Amino acid sequence: MIQLFMPLNFLGFVYREIKGSMASIEKMFELLDVKPKVTDIENANDLVLSLGRITFNDVSFHYAKERPILNNVSFSIEPGQKVAVVGASGAGKSTLVKLLFRFYDPSSGNISIDGQDVHNISQLSLRKVIGIVPQDTVLFNDTIFENVRYGRPDASDEEVREAIRMAYLQDFIEELPQGVGTIVGERGLKLSGGEKQRVAIARTILKRPPIMVFDEATSSLDSRSEQSILAAIREIAVNHTSLVIAHRLSTVVDADNIIVLDHGKIVEQGRHQQLLEQQGSYARLWQIQQQQP
Ligand code: ATP
Repeated sequence: MIQLFMPLNFLGFVYREIKGSMASIEKMFELLDVKPKVTDIENANDLVLSLGRITFNDVSFHYAKERPILNNVSFSIEPGQKVAVVGASGAGKSTLVKLLFRFYDPSSGNISIDGQDVHNISQLSLRKVIGIVPQDTVLFNDTIFENVRYGRPDASDEEVREAIRMAYLQDFIEELPQGVGTIVGERGLKLSGGEKQRVAIARTILKRPPIMVFDEATSSLDSRSEQSILAAIREIAVNHTSLVIAHRLSTVVDADNIIVLDHGKIVEQGRHQQLLEQQGSYARLWQIQQQQP
């Protein structure tokens, strides 16, 4: 995602500039998108969210013309469903998320939320309803408490504490020299990948957006932490439409639908058990992962 390519000191600058007036984390995307590839169409409408149904309709996409990335991808996520996308590295999973956020437009086909083409709606209203736990989380040079509050700047202290607890950050924080007041990020304490992901999850818990995207959300965690985080995610994702991009199949066995992407094409989809019975690429991937420690 674009913000990850920005130097951290620049991010820190932006953060300080906007912290006071920020309504949501999506404002940061907006501010960082200095030269956006994709801008709102003239007279773009705000998204009117009703149920939270997401539809990818025959979507194809390339970054460079000579190299197609997605080919005629169609699937829907029904309101409240959890849909997972799995597949080898480079299959195009994160690209699906970038298109959903409208960082790019599809080369053909369209993506809609509750029947509204994301091409026609304002990016601000789009990003307001979607919360993402990204692969890599940006931490600001501030206390861990304020870094969590960043998910919803007007949250009360009590709500921030609750989010910290639900994201299983409590034990980790208790070991820090100044507890929740410890400065982390840019010039403070550096957190591990797994700890940063928990901060991202706590932010998302605080924000509770109607649509949630988890992009390899638990990839940096050991398997014990992963299980507790997954429990937290399951809890917050109830009644929320969620899209999970995953490498580890153990994280998606409970999904309502699992989409298997291979070189930008959907090669299989279904529930975990169905896919195992089909004995196709998902079943092969599952067997390989079961043999790994
Ligand atoms: P991973 O599991 O490794 O994260 P992925 O399935 O999420 O992979 P994508 O990140 O969607 O894959 O990338 C799909 C393809 O598009 C890759 O070959 C990647 O090199 C290419 N790609 C991704 N971002 C860009 C970009 N900004 N410009 C050009 N090519 C890109």
